[in-house]
Amino acid sequence: MKIADGIEMIEITMNMMGRESTIYPTLIWDDNTAILVDAGMMSALPVIKKAMEDAGVPFERLDKIMVTHQDFDHIGGIKDILDELPEVKVLAHEEDKPYIQGEKKLVRVNSNFMERISDLSEEEQEKVLYMFENSSAPVDITLADGEELADCGGIVVIHTPGHTPGHICLYHKATKTLIVGDAMNISQGQLVGTNNLILTEEDAKTAADSLKKFEKYDVENVITYHGGLFNDDPTQRIKEFNKDEA
Ligand SMILES: [Zn+2]
Repeated sequence: MKIADGIEMIEITMNMMGRESTIYPTLIWDDNTAILVDAGMMSALPVIKKAMEDAGVPFERLDKIMVTHQDFDHIGGIKDILDELPEVKVLAHEEDKPYIQGEKKLVRVNSNFMERISDLSEEEQEKVLYMFENSSAPVDITLADGEELADCGGIVVIHTPGHTPGHICLYHKATKTLIVGDAMNISQGQLVGTNNLILTEEDAKTAADSLKKFEKYDVENVITYHGGLFNDDPTQRIKEFNKDEA
């Protein structure tokens, strides 16, 4: 789905943990650079390729993958991309880098999340564990809070810990689009915070605090990874949300 010139929301529907769900990576590009934000799960490659072709950006043009955080539905697709395009650079926040590279166990493995999936069938649980253990990929460049990449009219990195220690959101200046990964979601048409059910109380509080950083940006579009696009005056909605949480 086209958000504006040079930015496209990619839609990948797949069976995840026993039910169908859709995830939304983002493609940002201009004449010089093409960037994928989050790479989907394992096996996402054909959908990503087709979405890029449809947007008029040949897959071979891809330069960078920016990863919002370590969860396997964001990093699982990196390996297949690098197999075909080994020159592509992977960028992530330094605090999630060791997890993405497989040096540390993904945070979800030691969390409420595992308890939450305990009522899935054994087969589904095994599938999830397999993905946890086989999604790692090398990170070439680490990103820090407040850093701005010159690519595609400027992309600002916003460190939003809570959902994971190194979760980041990205603000694409040219289109006033905020890519929030899993820091926010959409529920019943409304922009809401992260999924607190899978976090400790402390991490949930950190996650909520992180969202205050958005208030200084003029936002016309929010792309959430699990809920898609929110463009009903997000600047105002973010302020209201933070006030309600305070
Ligand atoms: Zn996540």
